[in-house]
Amino acid sequence: MDMPSPDARVMAKKARVIERLQSVLPTDAVIHDPAETRAYECDALTAYRCPPLCAVLPSNTDEVAAVLRICHEEEVPVVPRGSGTSLAGGALPTADCVILGVARLNAVLETDYPNRIIRVQSGRTNLSVTGAVEEDGFFYAPDPSSQLACAIAGNIAMNSGGAHCLKYGVTTNNLLGVKMVQMDGTIVDLGGAHMDAPGLDLLGLICGSEGQLGVVTEATLRILPKPEGARPVLIAFDDNAVAGACVADIIKAGVLPVAIEFMDRLCIETTEAFAQAGYPDCNALLIVEVEGSDAEIDHQLDLISTIAARHDPVEIRQSRSAEESARIWLGRKSAFGAIGQISDYMCLDGTIPVSALPEVLSRIGELTEQYGLRVGNVFHAGDGNMHPLILYDANKPGDLELCEAMGADILRLCVNVGGCLTGEHGVGIEKRDLMTSQFSTEDLEAQMVVKDVFDPKWLLNPAKVFPLASSQSRRHGG
Ligand SMILES: Cc1cc2nc3c(=O)[nH]c(=O)nc-3n(C[C@H](O)[C@H](O)[C@H](O)COP(=O)(O)OP(=O)(O)OC[C@H]3O[C@@H](n4cnc5c(N)ncnc54)[C@H](O)[C@@H]3O)c2cc1C
Repeated sequence: MDMPSPDARVMAKKARVIERLQSVLPTDAVIHDPAETRAYECDALTAYRCPPLCAVLPSNTDEVAAVLRICHEEEVPVVPRGSGTSLAGGALPTADCVILGVARLNAVLETDYPNRIIRVQSGRTNLSVTGAVEEDGFFYAPDPSSQLACAIAGNIAMNSGGAHCLKYGVTTNNLLGVKMVQMDGTIVDLGGAHMDAPGLDLLGLICGSEGQLGVVTEATLRILPKPEGARPVLIAFDDNAVAGACVADIIKAGVLPVAIEFMDRLCIETTEAFAQAGYPDCNALLIVEVEGSDAEIDHQLDLISTIAARHDPVEIRQSRSAEESARIWLGRKSAFGAIGQISDYMCLDGTIPVSALPEVLSRIGELTEQYGLRVGNVFHAGDGNMHPLILYDANKPGDLELCEAMGADILRLCVNVGGCLTGEHGVGIEKRDLMTSQFSTEDLEAQMVVKDVFDPKWLLNPAKVFPLASSQSRRHGG
């Protein structure tokens, strides 16, 4: 994975830039000691690392604007950072950049239950948004598995999803407005406090823009009343492709579960050893969760079980209590951590039409043979959002490159069956150079023109999303 060389002109003025940043922020909010900037050298795509020029931790929108104004004048690149959990390298620094972390912007600014909204500063973690309203019977629906750590800022930048987004939609469907600072320090409000705002849908442009267009400092989010109840059914199969066919049938039947999650044998065995969730001995399993009153839940789970029974399952296990539900979810929720205990891995994120699941799963099996690398499949099957985890050995020369090549083949496969390079993790650096397999030169040019409008000097997160060759003439320092 290539990153541009640091701009020598920026490196030469490091001391002056730090001094200017210290003049607008408290002393402890400017981190420049090399021992401390290492904390920001990577995100959750840990294969790539580079300490930044410095990191800043502003506490409010005005401080963010002051930082950006200085970096704009000095022509220093800025990489916005939430909690650094991006799996796509979205928050990876370059040596000549200022990391702008929003962790100190974590307050709840307003809750309005009659209108079902909450307004928060963008560094607030996803789970603590629900934490702020759950005693009053509400929740914030998008639930990335990283929700304990990841920030709303990162969720907006990546348009993050989660297990329950099959029913409730992803971040963009639950975001009503943002306060954002442009690279030149201008503060703008986009969207509002209700669905759809007058004028161009600029909010839609910002959600999923991966820190390319501005730094989001506040967000107005839709909150929902907590459902009466929810329970999953676990369905075990002998074959990945049959499990994929079962997902397609459930969706085709018009049932709308809140979640349909898939795990293959490698993930099942690894999480069993790690979390002892009591999963059956099988090659693939689905966790399908539905919501409603007890009677509604029973009705939907019976319908799903009837559909599943047609696919010759090894076991169908309907949850009857909160304890049984927690046990069914335990393995799925521990899956990434469990795999991380046995190997280095790269987590992919492609989206495919649900009907293509059987074909794609069996093709991934063939690629496993071809590359000689193991792949664990754990993903949001209901919306076709795949997360193949490619296991590799970071200490074995050539293994990372092999893993990257296999990942590229899997993502191209997703595009070829009518899907897309990213479902919820974003492009970052991980899929940056694969963008040409999905978009023509004209498509990419049109997208870069949008960045030109918001960030004419290309200082915000400049080495991400667009293939380096396509963006070279625009990026500062070439
Ligand atoms: C174990 C694990 C499980 C995960 N599960 C899921 C999942 O289920 N669903 C899912 O969607 N993702 C998942 N992720 C990926 C990740 O958590 C999400 O992409 C998350 O939204 C990133 O949030 P963050 O605050 O950590 O952002 P960061 O990693 O800090 O940054 C992500 C991107 O947002 C930009 N950004 C950050 N702050 C701002 C800002 N204030 N303004 C503008 N741009 C900004 C950054 O420049 C970067 O491009 C998972 C990650 C891990 C490690």
